[in-house]
Amino acid sequence: MTPKKLAASLTVGALVLTGLTAGGGPAQATAESHAPKPPAKNATAIGFGGAVASVDPEATNVGIGVLRRGGNAVDAAVATAAALGVTEPYSAGIGGGGYFVYYSAKHGKVYTIDGRETAPAAMPADAFINPATGTPYTFFPDLVTSGVSVGVPGTLATWDSALKSWGSLPLKKAIKPAAELADRGFVVDETFRSQTLDNKARFSAIVPTAKLFLPGGDAPKVGSLFKNKELARTYDLIGQQGPSAFYRGPLAGEMAKVVKTPPKTPGTTLPVMPGHLTTADLAKYKVLKQDPTKIKYDGLDVYGMAPSSSGGTTVGEALNILTPKKLSKLSTPDALHNYLEASALSFADRGAYVGDPKFVDVPTKQLLSKGFGAERSCQIDPKKAAAKPVKPGAPDGSYDACAPGVNKTEHPDTEGLSTTHLVASDRWGNVVSYTLTIEQTGGSGITVPGRGFLLNNELTDFSAVPDPADPNRIEPNKRPRSSMSPTIVLKHGKPFLALGSPGGSTIITTVLQTLTNRLDRGMTLPEAVAAPRASQRNTASVTAEPAFIDAYEDQLTPYGHKLVLAGDALTSAAEIGAVAALEFLPGGGYLAAAEPKRRGGGSAATVHQLWPR
Ligand code: GLU
Repeated sequence: MTPKKLAASLTVGALVLTGLTAGGGPAQATAESHAPKPPAKNATAIGFGGAVASVDPEATNVGIGVLRRGGNAVDAAVATAAALGVTEPYSAGIGGGGYFVYYSAKHGKVYTIDGRETAPAAMPADAFINPATGTPYTFFPDLVTSGVSVGVPGTLATWDSALKSWGSLPLKKAIKPAAELADRGFVVDETFRSQTLDNKARFSAIVPTAKLFLPGGDAPKVGSLFKNKELARTYDLIGQQGPSAFYRGPLAGEMAKVVKTPPKTPGTTLPVMPGHLTTADLAKYKVLKQDPTKIKYDGLDVYGMAPSSSGGTTVGEALNILTPKKLSKLSTPDALHNYLEASALSFADRGAYVGDPKFVDVPTKQLLSKGFGAERSCQIDPKKAAAKPVKPGAPDGSYDACAPGVNKTEHPDTEGLSTTHLVASDRWGNVVSYTLTIEQTGGSGITVPGRGFLLNNELTDFSAVPDPADPNRIEPNKRPRSSMSPTIVLKHGKPFLALGSPGGSTIITTVLQTLTNRLDRGMTLPEAVAAPRASQRNTASVTAEPAFIDAYEDQLTPYGHKLVLAGDALTSAAEIGAVAALEFLPGGGYLAAAEPKRRGGGSAATVHQLWPR
C-alpha cells in the first residue's frame, strides 16, 4: 500500500473511531493562565512510523521524541519508563521492578526480561509475622510502610539489559529526556495530588519522603510545577557511571542503609520496621531472560510473561478455558458469565501452582496445555456460577473430559493496586509491552535520601503466613509471584495487538477482559479499553466498576454472580486497571489506545499522526 492509500484507509478508520473516544484533547489545568500547561493528550491515536501509549502525556511524548530521532521501540520504551519514574513516581521507578516483553521484527520472535524484585538473602520465612502476636503484621500501613517489604530493585537492570540486547541507544541517552523532565518539572494533575494525599499519613512518617513529596506539609497543588532535582541528578549519575552506580556504587550503600534504619519523623506512630536489604544483595542482582508463555486463541498466538509472574499462565489458561465456549457466538450475558467463571478457575490454579520457578516446580507447560484448559472448561455450567472459591485442577498431563478439582489450601492475595504499563513500537515493526511497578501506590513510602525515588514494597506480594505447600511462600533470594501481564498477540506471525495494565491481581482479568472485548465481543480496541470492567479472582463476589454494575447486574444476577463495587479504603476511585495498548493495522499503520478516563486519562500518540491531528 502506498503511503497515500494507507493515509486514506487510516483516516476512514479514524472517522469511524471519532465517535468512540472520549477523553481526547488537552488535559485540564486549574491554575491561572500564566501557570505552566501540561502537554495535550489523546486517548486514541492513529498514524504510522511508530507509536507509544502510556498513562501520562509527558512520558508518551518522551517516547515519541526518541522514535522521531531514529530510536527503536526498546529505546522508546526505556525512555518512556524513565519518564514515568518522574511523573508517576508512586507507581514506578528505579526503586522497583517489572516485566519487559519484546517482539523482534528481525527475528520474528518474542523475548522477555524478568526484572522482578528479589528477596534479600537474609529474609526469614516468617518475616511478616509479628513476634509479639504470632500473627501477620497489620498489612496497611504497617507492613507496607516498612523496610521488611523492600526487595532488590530490578528496573534499572531491566533497562540496561533491554538496551544492550535490542536497543540502539546507550542507557545515558535513553534516560536523558527523563532527567531533563525531572529537572524542569511537570504539571501536577488531580491523580498525582490525590495519590499523594491518599499516602499523606505514611509519607509524613518518613523524613526524606515528607521532604520530597509533601513540600510545606501538603501535597503539591493541581496545576503547580513539580520538580524532582534529586532524581534528575540520580539519572545523571547513572548516565555517567552506568547501572553499577546503583547496584555497586554509592547508591547501593545508601539504599541498604535507609532500609536498615528508615529515617522516621520524630513522634510518628508508624512502626516503619527495618528490613534486610544489603549491598551484597544489590551487587548480585540479575535480570532473567526467559521464554515467553504462548497459547493459541482463535488462530492468534498470545505471548505473555512466564513465572515469576502469574500473568502469562493465568491469562493463557483462561483463554484456553474459553476456547471451547466460542464467546463470539454467545449473548453478552453468557459471554460475561463465561469470562468470570474462566477467571475464577484460572485463579484457583494460579494460587495452587505458581511461584518463582527457581524455588518451586511450576507446571507452566501443563497449565497452558489445551488438554488442561478443556478439562477446566468443562467445570463451567453455562447458566450457573459455581460456588467460590472453586478448587484448583490437576495439571498433571492426564486429562479427563470433566475432572473435578483437587483439595489445596488457598492463600489470600495481598497485592497493591498501583503499577503502570506502556507499549511502544517503531517503524521497523519491533514492539515492546512493558509493565513496571513499585507495588503499592507510593511503594514502601521510603525515599532514598537525596536521590529522589521511592523504594518498592514488592515483597508484600509473598504470602504472609509461612506454609511449605504454598508456592508463593517467603524464601531468601526468591521473587514474589506477580500478576503483571504484559502481552503481545501475533496474527500469522506478525504483531496484531500489544497490551497490559496495572492493578495488582486485577491486571490479569483486565488484560483478559480487554482481549475478549476486542477479539470476541465485536469492540474496536478503544472500545475494548474503555468498556466497564469486572474482576472475578475466585472469591465469593465479583468486584466491578460502577458502570459495569449499572449495565450488567440485572443480567448476571440470575446466574448467581454477586457484583460488589471495586476499590478499597486506600483509593478514592472505584476503577479497575489502566490499559495501554496498540493494534497494528493493515498497511503498516498503528492504532494506539490509552484510557479515556481511568486514572485521569492516558496518552496515546504515533510518530506521523493522521488522527487526531
Ligand atoms: N505487585 C503487583 C504485581 O506484581 C503489581 C502491583 C499493582 O499493580 O498494583 O503483580
